[in-house]
Amino acid sequence: MKQFEVPVFYRSSLISTIKKLRKEKDKLKKDFSPTLLNFGPVQIYLARHFGFCYGVENAIEIAFKTVEENPGKRIFLLSEMIHNPQVNADLSRHGVQFLQDTYGKELIPFDDLTSDDIVLIPAFGTTLAIEKKLNDIGIPTEKYNTTCPFVEKVWNRSAAIAKKDYTIIIHGKPSHEETRATFSHAAAGAPSVVVKDMKETQRLALYITGELDAARFYEEFKNQYSEGFDVTKDFARIGVVNQTTMLASDTQAIADYLKQVMVEKYNLSKENLAERFADTRDTLCYATNDNQTSVSSMLQTDADLAIVVGGYNSSNTSHLVELCEEKLPTYYINSPDKIISQKEIIHFNFHTSQELLTADYLPQQEPVKILITSGASCPDILVEQVIEKITGFYPNALPMEAVAQQLV
Ligand code: SF4
Repeated sequence: MKQFEVPVFYRSSLISTIKKLRKEKDKLKKDFSPTLLNFGPVQIYLARHFGFCYGVENAIEIAFKTVEENPGKRIFLLSEMIHNPQVNADLSRHGVQFLQDTYGKELIPFDDLTSDDIVLIPAFGTTLAIEKKLNDIGIPTEKYNTTCPFVEKVWNRSAAIAKKDYTIIIHGKPSHEETRATFSHAAAGAPSVVVKDMKETQRLALYITGELDAARFYEEFKNQYSEGFDVTKDFARIGVVNQTTMLASDTQAIADYLKQVMVEKYNLSKENLAERFADTRDTLCYATNDNQTSVSSMLQTDADLAIVVGGYNSSNTSHLVELCEEKLPTYYINSPDKIISQKEIIHFNFHTSQELLTADYLPQQEPVKILITSGASCPDILVEQVIEKITGFYPNALPMEAVAQQLV
């Protein structure tokens, strides 16, 4: 895979060494077991895959290069570059301004832009309407477009389904930038609807089967269906795509459920299923798959707690937390600073969108066993700092260099 020039301050020499060694030993990426860092009184189990993905590194490289090559120019980002507060703050420090917040609310009016300005499109991509707005101002959208190729792959899949006259059901978070962008691209080619989870999918199914009055659909799925959507006709043929960072098991369950709904409604068999249901596999990206599989593998370790590092609005990170929470106490932090002391930690509850302070999060008995991973937009240096902070609470812990040496 292509190597990107990412500022060195995001890298961690410990983690780069571990990733390099694991890659050399497992070229075909078959081993998802965690890496044990044995510090003595504390044992860290580091997920096999975590941290910056292809799309994030690509976006960061383009953004920092753009800043370097365009002194004196006004540079804007459509919204957060990626869902990581440190990276966005670094870009702000380099003079990059944000046009919208994560939910698409304007922070700087588009009317203030001129054709001399540079506007970076983030890794999630953007809507056709915004692309047009920028083009109308005279701002080219090609050169500074950091849309991840794995997001574009979803758009291509949608276009292929649309060409065959299927309606597109998008499994994603309706307010997430990527899902808004995917919805816009999908809706340009076919009737489209967004469902955020299984509960919504089951409601949608009642409109597909005709059990619910069609008129209610427009209220219940307000802002989640494309213009001109006709409930009485547009569910005759459907296909499912998804936001690249959803939970793999959720997406699979939703696609299977909708397939079964169509099979029962139209009495389909294997032979004629494709008449009503597009044969698609999920559109999760490789990083989502690798990171979630690594967490599932890591969870087979008998550990005391898990720490997941990443931005609180990062969809892929929250799914890693969701997986860990099923098994053991899990602390979702966006910075090593959230580890206050050996006694206290501030962490995010993404179900209630609140930060909490928890006391006595580290067990008394030694060795303490901790699982650690991070989201696809989290710099490795933050994970190293988390490890450093935790091991610093144990005076007898081996130094980082000695533990790194054990791995070679
Ligand atoms: S998480 Fe996947 S789709 Fe999103 S930027 Fe990374 S590689 Fe691309």
